[in-house]
Amino acid sequence: MINFKTSKPLSQYLSRQRAAGKRIGFVPTMGALHPGHLSLIDLAKAENRVCVCSIFINPTQFNNENDFLHYPVTVEKDIQELLKRGCHALFLPNHSEIYPEGFQARYYELGALENILEGHFRPGHFQGVCQVVDRLLEIIEPDDIFLGQKDFQQCLVIDHLLTITGRRIQTHIAIAPTVREPGGLAMSSRNTRLNENEFQTAKAISEALYYIKDHALLQPVAELELQAMKYLSGKGLSVDYVTIADAGTLAKTTTLNKPAIALIAVTVGKVRLIDNMLLN
Ligand code: AMP
Repeated sequence: MINFKTSKPLSQYLSRQRAAGKRIGFVPTMGALHPGHLSLIDLAKAENRVCVCSIFINPTQFNNENDFLHYPVTVEKDIQELLKRGCHALFLPNHSEIYPEGFQARYYELGALENILEGHFRPGHFQGVCQVVDRLLEIIEPDDIFLGQKDFQQCLVIDHLLTITGRRIQTHIAIAPTVREPGGLAMSSRNTRLNENEFQTAKAISEALYYIKDHALLQPVAELELQAMKYLSGKGLSVDYVTIADAGTLAKTTTLNKPAIALIAVTVGKVRLIDNMLLN
């Protein structure tokens, strides 16, 4: 694996790979890698692609300074994991490489997606996500970008970003299933901040999602949401939302006759966690 800290040698390397007939598969991350991230590396490597992973903890997507300051950093371990997995290139930029002096943040028109669910609870978050992903796409120009369903709203936002920036001509988006702990908890870098008790309690998130999925045809949508909410609160979790929404737009839905998704955000101890499950 070749490590790049700056964009110019990375671009040159990728040009040579393209000239040799390779496609470029890109996996953006904020590090503290776990098997969920590594499943994306496997996909990006498949089908004769060169796999580029980026690790950059993007300050502009954190609306909560405490969350940013406590975000786990495990770069040496991450490098070992990527090596073991056979990743071809790591992009590990510093702040000024992504946001050089004079960098002008543009405003991304994201429509309703910007202010609902995660957008509502984390104002400015998706503008920050678009800023960093747009910049990374500008540098890497991948053929395929690999994202996790775990951050479903982010997937829709980045899909929209490809449209509004015209990058869809170049880059295809692929969404991979959520990788879970044996007890069902969605893997997340933030899970490392949970103590044993909190880790056990956090299993209630996926239990609530499975409850909704299992009862989706048996109870009205509002009742499913209410039961899941009660279950999570009963376990001592602080619930931001339990929502069943249209899987294409994330608009709230009251019927399940179109593809729908259940989404949950809670805080366990000091750690905010999200998860979701497609229902039909
Ligand atoms: P992050 O480092 O949290 O920004 O995540 C980087 C990428 O990994 C994003 O596309 C996430 O959706 C994806 N990801 C995070 N957790 C998981 C998981 N448990 N399973 C699959 N993909 C994941």
